[in-house]
Amino acid sequence: MEIKRHEKPVLVTRSSLPPLEEYVEMLKPIWDSAWLTNMGQYHEEFKAQLKQYLKAENLELFVNGHLALELGIQALKLEGEVITTPFTFASTTHAIVRNGLTPVFCDINDRDYTMDVEKIESLITDKTCAIAPVHVYGNICDVEKIQEIADRHNLKVIYDAAHTFGETYDGQGIANFGDISMFSLHATKVFHSIEGGIVSFKDPELKDLLYQLKNFGITGYESVEYVGSNGKMNEFQAAMGLCNLRHLDGEIAKRKALVERYRERLSGVPGIKLCEENPRVKSNYAYMPVVFDGYRAGRDEIFAALAEHNIHARKYFYPCVNSYECYRGEFSETDTPVAAKISREVLTLPLFAELPLETVDEICDIILNLKK
Ligand SMILES: *Cc1c(COP(=O)(O)O)cnc(C)c1O
Repeated sequence: MEIKRHEKPVLVTRSSLPPLEEYVEMLKPIWDSAWLTNMGQYHEEFKAQLKQYLKAENLELFVNGHLALELGIQALKLEGEVITTPFTFASTTHAIVRNGLTPVFCDINDRDYTMDVEKIESLITDKTCAIAPVHVYGNICDVEKIQEIADRHNLKVIYDAAHTFGETYDGQGIANFGDISMFSLHATKVFHSIEGGIVSFKDPELKDLLYQLKNFGITGYESVEYVGSNGKMNEFQAAMGLCNLRHLDGEIAKRKALVERYRERLSGVPGIKLCEENPRVKSNYAYMPVVFDGYRAGRDEIFAALAEHNIHARKYFYPCVNSYECYRGEFSETDTPVAAKISREVLTLPLFAELPLETVDEICDIILNLKK
């Protein structure tokens, strides 16, 4: 059967939006109070609801996920080397480097593409101060083993949890692992506040410092103790977050049905690899990564075949961070061969709550009908 080209592009994701009236209703109190930013009423309400949803005691909100991570790392007052993964978005590494720290890249495992915990210890030196893994695609890292290594070597653990909003591990909120975790509330994520970020933290003492760092390091009317930044979440963002939170569970249920269809159609096909599902994790169905390893068509051919139908998958994450232009000469992709290989074979397929099931079938048909 001929699959027609979509007239409107099907993108890898599409931002979820609440009914317009719901958001407009939320704007009235902002107009009444004329309090637009700087930890207003919605900011506080949003924070309280997020603590419940994430099952986490300690968190601070930020204007975006990247600044959340950057300022979260600053709050830990580290020096030296941070062991991290090259199989991630630019933000993870940039946040380390912009804090004056040196990233040391650890390879990933080829089952769920998180940091290969067997390779961490060989990278630890007397300069190592922290481990910064990523729960990539919402796949939870081996949190127990990472904590055990960190404890043995007296290291901090910083999770880039940008992909894991609302996930639990053995029933525990994922925000509770490591010293800090960062969640991104960017428009393209499962749950968003237009732009936005969260830092969850273990040590309650970090609360004031995180607050001060996102507000220029100001510590009192006439004192500025830190070289901070401007990382405050505004009221319009918090209002969007509050609206979206009401609809989130429904959205995740829709995503789940789509992921199940993808898995049903694509699993067991020789040369097509899907991530292993972890029964201990309650997933948020954020992404649909597929690895083509020995399939009759390569990743780039499949990308092109979908594009011909106006369907736009993404090569997340390609290239690896350790081969970026801005880090050239400092790192080499050959040090992390699994990450290098997966980055050339992986394709993230379209996935968002309003994606029709028929489109998932079309995408699978296109992939499965490809001739050599
Ligand atoms: C989205 C993302 C970020 C950055 O979040 P922003 O909110 O866009 O600043 C960081 N790390 C990863 C892995 C991401 O996917």
